[in-house]
This record gives sequence, structure tokens and C-alpha cells, in this order.
Amino acid sequence: VDVKDKGLGEFGLIERFRRGVPSNDRVALGIGDDCASIRFTPGAEVLVTTDMLMEGRHFRPDDPLIEVGGKCLGVNLSDIAAMAGRPIAAVVAVALPKARAVEAGLALQEGIVAMAGRFGVALVGGDTNAWDGPLVVSITVFGEATDRGAVRRSGARPSDAVLVSGPLGGSLIGRHLRPEPRVREALALHQRLEIHAMIDLSDGLAGDLRQILQESGNLGAVLDADAVPIHPDAVAMSLVDHRSPLDHALSDGEDFELCFTVDPDDADRLLASPPAGVMVYLIGRIDEGPGLRLRHADGRVEPCDVRGFDHLSGGGA
Ligand code: ADP
Ligand code: MG
Repeated sequence: VDVKDKGLGEFGLIERFRRGVPSNDRVALGIGDDCASIRFTPGAEVLVTTDMLMEGRHFRPDDPLIEVGGKCLGVNLSDIAAMAGRPIAAVVAVALPKARAVEAGLALQEGIVAMAGRFGVALVGGDTNAWDGPLVVSITVFGEATDRGAVRRSGARPSDAVLVSGPLGGSLIGRHLRPEPRVREALALHQRLEIHAMIDLSDGLAGDLRQILQESGNLGAVLDADAVPIHPDAVAMSLVDHRSPLDHALSDGEDFELCFTVDPDDADRLLASPPAGVMVYLIGRIDEGPGLRLRHADGRVEPCDVRGFDHLSGGGA
């Protein structure tokens, strides 16, 4: 593989990656051999997740690559959070544009290392390529479920309370490049009470909550329109495109907040005293269905027709 600008070359670049990575006691063998070797807790359920970001599809050519690197790791950490797991280690595969391979590789790496450092995740390896195409970066993260088990999408029950961990909508203004994976929040919540079902909000609340409903045996849910927390970015976008802030909150995606369901009594206790540093908003209730509905301020209940983002059905970034 030829990554040959600035005279650094593929091996020089990988050597820079290697030196930029702090030591981590989970790592028996890190960057530099044919495989990495990771120490998992004996008996732990290992979680694995992967995500790919493609220039021109998931980010723009002029987006800062430090942020792109941080985002690529961040979205994976958000998936580990959605299982209430602990992230342990990551591997990074990149296809760098030949004309600026070293520069791009180093900038990506800087963002990845910074995000990894914030969550104590070990960078243990990867694959570095260059080509005449656009930049593509794919990160795989390994984590562990806690001894309470991994929280799945499929555990919601009728009468469960539906909660989210933060305000939603409008991330496209810029927040989408700087996800705040809710790893600590998920662990704190899961330690406090039994989370029945959970998902991280990447494709929009309406679409992602539908995943929970479908996986939990085709249940339904009613959301209180007034209770959905609206991010200021959703209001800002609404002023420009005249779609309502609620519509943005339901459909925009890339919020990387958690949506989860718990026993209604647990929800009351949680709202009365949430774990330190954790935000929780009660937005609705699971029922037998059908489907997702919205209850408006005047009491009207209507089917929610908002679609989530679907990469295979065309549409935006
Ligand atoms: P191999 O040919 O045996 O797969 P490579 O020469 O591709 O090995 O990689 C050498 C070492 O550098 C390996 O430990 C690999 O995991 C690591 N590595 C390669 N690219 C990256 C990267 N982008 N980030 C982190 N580690 C990397
Ligand atoms: Mg090898």
C-alpha cells in the first residue's frame, strides 16, 4: 500500500499512530503485530459494533477531519452505550485520498485518539490504505456488557415509560459532527434500575423508537408532543425551513442521545432523583399499539407519520 506524501510512507504513518496511542492495561498486544490481543474480563459478554463514514455521504469534503475521526469513534461508542456496555478497545480502517494521505491520516487519528482518551478506550490496531477515491473511515469497537447484561431493543413492555437522555433535533447544524456518546449515563442508569429496552438515537426518535416497538413484539407507543425535549438547534432550523421544531426532534437523527423504556414506578423514582450528571425526560408510554402515536396539547391522539432517516431510500447526508 502506498501512502507516500511528505515522505512518511505507510509504515511511517502507522509508526506515528503507534506512538500517539497511550498505554492501556486491557491491551496485551497493541499496534505493531498481525493481531492485537485484548484482555476481556473472564466470563464477560463481549459487545462488538462497527460503523463506516464515507466522504460525500456522511460528511462533507470540507468538514474538519479531527471531528470526522472523533465522530467515527463516537458513533460506535454510542452503540456500546445503547447496550449499557463499557467500551474497551477499537480498531480503525481507513481508505485515505492519495493526494493528502498523511495529512488526512494524522488529522483523523488526532480526533480518534482524543475521543478514545475521554472514554478510556484502547486503540489496538487497524488497516491503512490510500487510493484515488474519497476518504472512508471505518471503526470497530469492542466492549463488555456489565453483569446486569446487555440491554437490547427487544425488552419493552406495555405500560413502560419511554424516556430520552437529552434534547433532540437540528444536529445537522453542526452538532452531528461532535457526538457525545452517553456511555457514562447508560452505565449509571443501568446500575440504578433495570432498563427494559434501549437504543441510541442516530436515525431520529420516531424511526429509532419504532425499532424498539417492532423488536419488542410489535408494541405501540404514545408520545406526548409537549414532552419531547427540543434542542435549540431544532428551533434554529425551524426558523429557516419552517418545519416545526417537534418535526425536527422526531426525524432529524444523529442526536446520539439514548431512548429507553423502564417500569413506570422506576421512571417516577428516576425523574425525582436522576443519577448525578444524567438528564432524563419522560416522553411517553408503551402500549399494545398499533404503532407510534402523538398526543397533542389538546388531547388529540394521532398516528405519528414521521419517517426516520433511511440510508438505502435516498435522501440527505
Ligand atoms: P498486516 O499487514 O499484518 O495486517 P499492517 O502492516 O497492515 O499489518 O499494520 C501494521 C500494524 O499497524 C498492525 O498492528 C495494524 O493493526 C496497525 N495499524 C494499521 N493501520 C492502523 C490505523 N489506521 N490505526 C491503528 N493501527 C493501525
Ligand atoms: Mg500480518
